[in-house]
Amino acid sequence: MSQIGATVLGYPRIGPRRELKRAVEAYWADQISADELTTTAAELRASTWQELARRGLDSVPGNTFSYYDHVLDTATLFGAVPERFQDTGLSELDRYFAMARGRPDLAPLELTKWFDTNYHYLVPELAPDTRFTLAGRKPVDEFEEAMRLGVRTRPVLLGPLTFLLLAKPAPGSPDGFTPLKLADSLAECYIELLEQLHEAGADWVQLDEPAFAADRSAAELCALRDVYARVTAATNRPKLLVAGYFGDPGPALPILAESGAEAVSIDLVSAPELAFELSEMPGLRTKTVVAGVVDGRNVWRTDVDQALSRCAAMAGSVGELAVSTSCSLLHVPYDVDAETGLDQDVRARLAFARQKVDEVVELNRALQSGASANHKHQTTSARRASEPIDEQKRRRAPYSEREHAQRARLGLPSLATTTIGSFPQTPDVRRARADLRAGRLSESEYRRRMRAEIGRVIRLQERLGLDVLVHGEPERNDMVQYFAEHLDGFATTEHGWVQSYGSRCVRPPILHGDVSRQAPITVEWSSYAQSLTGKPVKGMLTGPVTILAWSFVRVDQPLAQTADQVALALRDEVADLEQAGIWIVQMDEPALRELLPLRAKDRKEYLSWAVGAFRLATAAAAPGTQIHTHLCYSEFGDVIDAIDGLDADVTTIEAARSHMQVIDDLRAAEFGRGVGPGVYDIHSSRVPSEDEIAKRLIAALHVVPPERLWVNPDCGLKTRAYAEVEPALRNLVRAAARARGGQ
Ligand code: GLN
Ligand code: ZN
Repeated sequence: MSQIGATVLGYPRIGPRRELKRAVEAYWADQISADELTTTAAELRASTWQELARRGLDSVPGNTFSYYDHVLDTATLFGAVPERFQDTGLSELDRYFAMARGRPDLAPLELTKWFDTNYHYLVPELAPDTRFTLAGRKPVDEFEEAMRLGVRTRPVLLGPLTFLLLAKPAPGSPDGFTPLKLADSLAECYIELLEQLHEAGADWVQLDEPAFAADRSAAELCALRDVYARVTAATNRPKLLVAGYFGDPGPALPILAESGAEAVSIDLVSAPELAFELSEMPGLRTKTVVAGVVDGRNVWRTDVDQALSRCAAMAGSVGELAVSTSCSLLHVPYDVDAETGLDQDVRARLAFARQKVDEVVELNRALQSGASANHKHQTTSARRASEPIDEQKRRRAPYSEREHAQRARLGLPSLATTTIGSFPQTPDVRRARADLRAGRLSESEYRRRMRAEIGRVIRLQERLGLDVLVHGEPERNDMVQYFAEHLDGFATTEHGWVQSYGSRCVRPPILHGDVSRQAPITVEWSSYAQSLTGKPVKGMLTGPVTILAWSFVRVDQPLAQTADQVALALRDEVADLEQAGIWIVQMDEPALRELLPLRAKDRKEYLSWAVGAFRLATAAAAPGTQIHTHLCYSEFGDVIDAIDGLDADVTTIEAARSHMQVIDDLRAAEFGRGVGPGVYDIHSSRVPSEDEIAKRLIAALHVVPPERLWVNPDCGLKTRAYAEVEPALRNLVRAAARARGGQ
């Protein structure tokens, strides 16, 4: 049987109970042997294949397992191991983990976002002298392993173009070198691998090429054509399914349609219009088109009628139609049925990976039996009457007036010192939160402990001589989940883990309904902190865009509308903080850039509603109330205008890792408000010296006037230890004093 039929493009691999995470971490900690780790991995693979086959998929994806990351797997498979990891004397497995995590003497590969998802991959380093070889057998071994269990899988490989486009030139590569230049030699390795898979009995192989959902140059499109011409011309190979997902592949689709690949998959969730455009691609009439109608990266049940009508629209334009998820299911949790604590109505609307497999099978069955799609289009839930929201997005006074009002009220020195919000989360703090959840600690005892912690953090900051203090966020497990737990319209799960990178998993909240705030959330903690000190304490909130970016969000209304709902809830919180005597409120938007659309043409609209939501949340603040925002995790050079548009009085921004590059970007954009470029990298345990911080400040003073320059670390201190934080902040305060003195 060589039809694709019902399939999914990929499956979670961390284990329904995070078995892989536990095993991998135990191996790192020397608690289990390599053999024990590989046994756990094999069990997870076996249960995945058997389950997918049992649930009725016609084609089960293979090679979806990874100990850490599938991009790293691809790099090692083709021998793209940077020089510093060669000749280390490590076992293959340990070298693999060293590339992922580094060693004291070896910097790891860079970790970065996988397109516009919350998954992070390791960036391959390629140099002009990189020699690809087929250095491993993972896809073949796993294919044979599944065969022994009676499942003929469809091995999934990262496509050659996407692999090259995600890679970066190795340090020291000459100017003008791009990894794409290595396409020919990589293609040869793919051909060799395909031959091995063919000989092992694979009838289909999937090549993932999501890179074409973003804007690509003519040269990149040419390379796509050439490489696929070459690979498909190989005689001894399985049939090829090229998977494009995360958006419309644009000009890449006609290229694939004309290529020798036997099948292409299209993501009809992110680009439903594609269903109507295929008739213009005659090449598809002899191919299988895999219709990605089940959302692979969100948690809602599929609208069956809508999915079937999309499929119906393609009939006649394609050779054969198969049904699938829009992308790999890597991005959703395993099983809704494990969520016994969820509200029934919410649960009934959800589909996690297992349920999505069932949906694909059912949709394919309906399609085969010719069930005609009922063409009614689902209407979205009644929209709330739109309010004159635009006016609510403007502060009452321009920055120049606010600056005066705030200076008079706060009386801060120039080069004011502060932190980003969280202080180290000590084992005691974590235990208190866990004990409260488990009912071992009463609400009042928990409060007492949090207050004690806040008191310690305030006293420490006073002792260090910081100018603007924070309460330290001990009560927060996570900056998004905390707000999700306190707002209506969100649900949180018990087992809904999703891999973020390596063994790190997150449990995104589910934003399922209208968002509203029942009662103040943070006011009690902030005002308690303020009561302990004469220095100003910053209130600390997470912004609407970040809340959306790190949650599964309803799709029955535009994201922009949901963002405004979250913003209105936060707006009330800002007002309550002001009422409680908090004069500075920080609204973190570290994920502002994360939702940025892959294609340039879609960005303006996104930035407009994202910036609008932030402003809606903050603009009601009195002119004398100072609004801060904080941004991190990316380089922001291309969204400086949007940052300016936030109209925050002070913007603290990650800068240390990019060597204060952001300062130049801000200068170029004539950014005219307060700014705090992070003066040291909190991701490392290294304590920065007074000297190096002072140098950075003096450099910044060339661009930012002293009364608008803030002095702060790069990000929150939650993951650090006090033994590092205290000396680092002491040096920061001293460096600020020195820079104020102009030396
Ligand atoms: N206020 C948050 C903290 O300090 C900000 C975290 C972040 O930017 N990721 O932890
Ligand atoms: Zn940060």
